[in-house]
Amino acid sequence: MKLPAIAAKSFNQYQNHPVYRSIFQQTLNQLRQIFSPIARAKTVHAKIEEHLKKNLSDPVVAKHISCKKGCTACCHTQVSISHDEAELLSNKILSGTIKINIDRLAHQAQAADDSTKWYKLDYQSRQCVFLDSEGSCSVYADRPSVCRSNYSISDASFCSTEDGVEKPHRLLNTHHSNMVLTAGYYAAKGGGALPHLLWNKITSKFDKKSRSNENNP
Ligand code: SF4
Repeated sequence: MKLPAIAAKSFNQYQNHPVYRSIFQQTLNQLRQIFSPIARAKTVHAKIEEHLKKNLSDPVVAKHISCKKGCTACCHTQVSISHDEAELLSNKILSGTIKINIDRLAHQAQAADDSTKWYKLDYQSRQCVFLDSEGSCSVYADRPSVCRSNYSISDASFCSTEDGVEKPHRLLNTHHSNMVLTAGYYAAKGGGALPHLLWNKITSKFDKKSRSNENNP
């Protein structure tokens, strides 16, 4: 199972811990009762939010977080999404709810899941297709799990990948959220890099629609 790097680290470390194992298993059992990929993705997001709300309301925790509105460093990294999240986001694009730069998405998708190829793209073209001109996320309410659960507690300058290099930086302990996120990936049968998965999803839905129009002129 290909998981986002930070969630994979939590899962590998805590999958046999009784508390974290139970969070993972209970969430997975619940998600397996939900048959709509979009509803599953939204359930995972709600659970992550619920946990993080408690965590972030602690003033000691909040004081150490360097993430601020307008800082878009992590929106230039190779963000992962689950297949369910790809369904949710592709639906918003194809229904016209959200407009993106499709040429940029196609360009980014060429890196597939390869982080070396991704960081060879220039900084501007690595900008997430959902980042708007104000530096805000245009799909904030439906943003992927990884965009919800990763908080830097190092100096913000360590998050920058303008030079094409990822620097080690400390993150807030979000093991609980990472177990929920991992259950989401298991229920969705995996995931991958956002541009790659989203591009595949959009083009396959578009092909299906074209074929059905040809058969029913
Ligand atoms: S989905 Fe939103 S928060 Fe996540 S990388 Fe893209 S713009 Fe940033």
